[in-house]
Amino acid sequence: MSITKYKDTIENGDLIMVYISRLHIKPIVVQQGEVLNTRFGSFPHDSMIGLKYGAQLLTPKGKGFVYLLHPTPELWTVSLPHRTQIVYTPDSSYILQRMNVIGGSRVIEAGTGSGSFTHAFARNVGQSGRIFTYEFHEARYKQAVQEFGDHGLNDMVVVTHRDVCSQGFVITQEKIDADSVFLDLPSPWDAIPHLDEVISQKRQVDICCFSPCVEQVMKTVESLHENGWTQVEMTEVSSLVWESRKEMIREVDDALKRLKDVKKRQKEGIEKLKELAKAKAKAKAEMKSDTYIKQPKLKDRDRGYNPFGKGRRIAEGEEGFDWFNVSKTEREIKSHTSYLTFAVKVPQLQL
Ligand code: SAM
Repeated sequence: MSITKYKDTIENGDLIMVYISRLHIKPIVVQQGEVLNTRFGSFPHDSMIGLKYGAQLLTPKGKGFVYLLHPTPELWTVSLPHRTQIVYTPDSSYILQRMNVIGGSRVIEAGTGSGSFTHAFARNVGQSGRIFTYEFHEARYKQAVQEFGDHGLNDMVVVTHRDVCSQGFVITQEKIDADSVFLDLPSPWDAIPHLDEVISQKRQVDICCFSPCVEQVMKTVESLHENGWTQVEMTEVSSLVWESRKEMIREVDDALKRLKDVKKRQKEGIEKLKELAKAKAKAKAEMKSDTYIKQPKLKDRDRGYNPFGKGRRIAEGEEGFDWFNVSKTEREIKSHTSYLTFAVKVPQLQL
């Protein structure tokens, strides 16, 4: 199967993304006779075969469930085995549209790393495009070759084991003729001078260098200028998801009510403890030391409304209370912040 082509039904040997929870998506290859064990229960792979992608699968006992999702570059990015820092979707989606990577585009990527961005490139360039990706770390190179093969990307991706800073990008198999370049390397300025040999001389070429430090950006900008790149611009993607909800307005009187309530419950508790001790002593005197004396439990909803502590739950926006609207950012979003330095190279037309 291919991660970039959609199919409807799960078959033996397919890669599926098992959605266990929002923060836990597990990629598995369906294999007859195997069982997936999760904290919600066990799921035999046999029960997945024949289901539609997107189906909800219950455990044989019917208590826990997972969703069986079709692999996408986005799901792969949040679930892949990390070998390096990776580019996450907030950055890759921005870079792809900013460099106008479309069906048929020819892209250079270095280094391959964990292959996260390569998957996003692959879906955009499609069957008619090409990605030339380079990795100098041998184990990472081999794992990338394996994964791209397993995910049906062999037709689009050419992986080369190479130090691009010292050896450049030229390969013997084919002419690269790239129209987009993405460099996620510690020293992109050493790779930039090698690009002229492999980029298109007929179309505008876009470049993006992904660097976490401003010192790297400065050296990159210098190298871009020296090598004839123009429209140099540095941006940073700050992905923030805004949460919007109502917050109840609480007055000083509410705080006093709360303190009174705490005091009242403390007093009630002390009285109850006293009663319990008395009952225990009585039972002991009657030689029934094991007697269990059950205390009536007050349900939270019976306590009435308490603006701060235990009490009846109030639905957001419920009438009879004062509310104000709040909006704030979501605390956690997966992204690896780096500076994105963009530039273009326009071919010199021979008149
Ligand atoms: N963009 C990748 C992703 O989304 O998974 C992550 C790239 S990772 C941060 C950087 C990779 O570049 C590392 O795997 C490293 O081995 C490789 N690398 C560093 N310098 C290199 C060079 N001169 N030539 C080729 N690869 C290089």
